[in-house]
Amino acid sequence: MATAETAVRVEDKLFTNRYLVDVGRPHIKVKPHTQPSEALVALTRICPAGCYAVADNGQVEVTPDGCMECGTCRVVAEATGDIEWNYPRGGFGVLFKFG
Ligand code: SF4
Repeated sequence: MATAETAVRVEDKLFTNRYLVDVGRPHIKVKPHTQPSEALVALTRICPAGCYAVADNGQVEVTPDGCMECGTCRVVAEATGDIEWNYPRGGFGVLFKFG
């Protein structure tokens, strides 16, 4: 069992990944809204890559740079109509590094 001294932080693990941004073509979009739904607010806490945040105007925004395509936000918020989710185009998106 990992102790506080031996535990590896998620941020340190994610740092080993690389991400190729498809400029101007984000693969996840938040639908326009004035008040964020509960599902959208939940995404600001559950996305392991921290791609969702509440902006100064109170709306939830997504910055999919760094998205690892885990699909969590898709499961939580696509069916509610809060987000539009697609895989990145071929050659773009996360590049996992192993070892
Ligand atoms: S697919 Fe996963 S990593 Fe990517 S934005 Fe959604 S919750 Fe975050």
